Amino acid sequence: MALIVQKFGGTSVGNTDRIKNVARRVAKTREEGNQIVVVVSAMSGVTDGLIKLAKEIIPLPIEREMDMLLATGEQQTIALTAIALQALGIPAVSLTGAQAGIVTDGVHTKAKIKNITPKQIQHLLDAGNVVIVAGFQGQTAEGQITTLGRGGSDLTAIALAAAIEADLCQIYTDVDGVYTADPRIVPGAKKLNEISYDEMLELASLGAKVMQGRSVEFAKKFGVVFEVRSSLNDNPGTIVKEATASMEDVVIRGVSLDKNQAKLTVVGVPDKPGTAAKIFRTLGDAAINVDMIVQNVSHGGGTDISFTCDKSELLKAKTVIETLKASTGFKAVESAESIGKLSVVGVGMKSHSGVAAKLFEVLAQESVNIDMIATSEIYISVVIDLAKGEQAMRAVHKAFLE
Ligand code: ASP
Ligand code: MG
Repeated sequence: MALIVQKFGGTSVGNTDRIKNVARRVAKTREEGNQIVVVVSAMSGVTDGLIKLAKEIIPLPIEREMDMLLATGEQQTIALTAIALQALGIPAVSLTGAQAGIVTDGVHTKAKIKNITPKQIQHLLDAGNVVIVAGFQGQTAEGQITTLGRGGSDLTAIALAAAIEADLCQIYTDVDGVYTADPRIVPGAKKLNEISYDEMLELASLGAKVMQGRSVEFAKKFGVVFEVRSSLNDNPGTIVKEATASMEDVVIRGVSLDKNQAKLTVVGVPDKPGTAAKIFRTLGDAAINVDMIVQNVSHGGGTDISFTCDKSELLKAKTVIETLKASTGFKAVESAESIGKLSVVGVGMKSHSGVAAKLFEVLAQESVNIDMIATSEIYISVVIDLAKGEQAMRAVHKAFLE
């Protein structure tokens, strides 16, 4: 007998037929002699719909009340899933995040899990029940309802798997697993049998969103091995775990394209100590997340500094930097929105050479100009013209992975 956590996302519980499907799948796993904790998201579109309702009243609603509102989405699906299981004759009990013992800090709408006391879960499992827990929500030590940030049901599942020491954690979604690239863009993309936490994190944060990034970080920290697989078929999915030696045999695990970045260039920055510090401190204080940074060689005492940030924060970033014009003496701020960040990711880069050269050659063959470059031990990212992004992605995928 194994203890299994099964998490179903919004599409997998998108209507009552889908919920009945989920119930059948859970029932089957139970018949095989396992204990099961189910974590569900709100039905797809429900969380967005609730946010929209609040914003019809006021653009920036108080976050405590947003948590109160958003937590109702998952509360619907836990009850419906329990009802669907009971209809199949299976004892099932639904629990809110608070009832499941999930304690968070008090940062409303993006709370962090502080600890989990799964006493009630354990008790219900021991009595033969399937336990269904609301994803995405918890409660502060003072009893306030909180939510864990968009996509937070993944985190609930991973954290619960760690807390109850589950033998297996399965993340059911609407894709078959993690692919070498987005199959909608790259026809030759293949499903991966396994991927390391670090590669998954890079691919997620680089724009190939399959799971909430924070949940993967949590899994890495606590060594929770999990599987991403489809709730619509029985195909095996992708196992996500710590990198193994054999994983390094492959040069590149995947290619991603992030279309949500924008580039800002501060032109004619006086080449004096402290100027960059001032610019990025000001951005940091404004809570703007800066990604790639490039500073050019200076000529005649002035240099250009370029960086990327989320497109949605471009205007704010630009406004914030303009306020420093007089005190730092730079000439202008230029921005570019039609950029794409293309990345190749793989732990194999550690033991293979020439990856950058090959990447740049492929881009040259496609007449794609490279605007910025960033590297780490396991990725190389380039900023290119967005219009050529998908074409470049297909060419790079072909060169490394087909
Ligand atoms: N329902 C929440 C959201 O849409 C949490 C989740 O789906 O994981 O973000
Ligand atoms: Mg979701």
